[in-house]
Amino acid sequence: MSKGEMVYEGKAKRMFLTDDPGRLVVEYKDSLTAFNAQKVASMEGKGRLNNVISSVIFQYLKDRGVDNHFVRVIDDTHQEVLRVTILPIEVVVRNITAGSICKRLGVKEGLPLPRPLVELYYKDDALGDPIITEDHAVLFGWATQEELDQVKSMALKVNQLLGEMFEQVGVTLVDFKLEFGRTKDGRIILADEISPDTCRLWDKATNDRLDKDRFRNDLGRVLEAYEEIWKRLSEPKEA
Ligand code: AMP
Repeated sequence: MSKGEMVYEGKAKRMFLTDDPGRLVVEYKDSLTAFNAQKVASMEGKGRLNNVISSVIFQYLKDRGVDNHFVRVIDDTHQEVLRVTILPIEVVVRNITAGSICKRLGVKEGLPLPRPLVELYYKDDALGDPIITEDHAVLFGWATQEELDQVKSMALKVNQLLGEMFEQVGVTLVDFKLEFGRTKDGRIILADEISPDTCRLWDKATNDRLDKDRFRNDLGRVLEAYEEIWKRLSEPKEA
């Protein structure tokens, strides 16, 4: 599998063409950004950690019936994925209040929600990714109602599976962001990444933050937290 021309460079990843038109190579970068890239840093080893963490999670989800773009890990910072057209929608699932919902609605941090809350955001950096309703997405042609129904049910399934996965290693899944893509034949599959950059993960025993909030809120030991998540996910589990 050759790494050809770069087709996209984002805040944390680069995507490259390959000799197979249906596949891309993703390179995970060491850069960290927050608050719509107003805060930027680079941490050596972050790309490797997110590459391996996201790969393990996508494989786990694929094994449990969540169709996704992950094909294989190539090396420390590269993975092969299926080429899709990303829907311009970010899907956030929340189990416990934290982050933007607290600011937006004035609710306290750390409140467990009676059931998972699914939110949609329009992916547009210039607008600061505004929250939207399903009607906005359908009426502006960003997704069909059928696609949104599928996205929502996949997001809830991911929440259940990921919640169980992290529960087993003593981590509370507070919230996370997903992105979905459309394949050439019109299927909706899970894409992008799932890592401490895109989830809030709290240590069950101590409530220690083990995710990008360490960077956002200047809590220190950012890489150590990502390393801890990788250590727990990669350790052999009891049957
Ligand atoms: P927030 O809306 O900022 O409270 O974020 C909710 C969850 O989605 C957190 O786990 C964030 O890390 C994640 N999230 C939200 N927006 C993004 C984004 N643009 N990139 C990565 N993760 C995000």
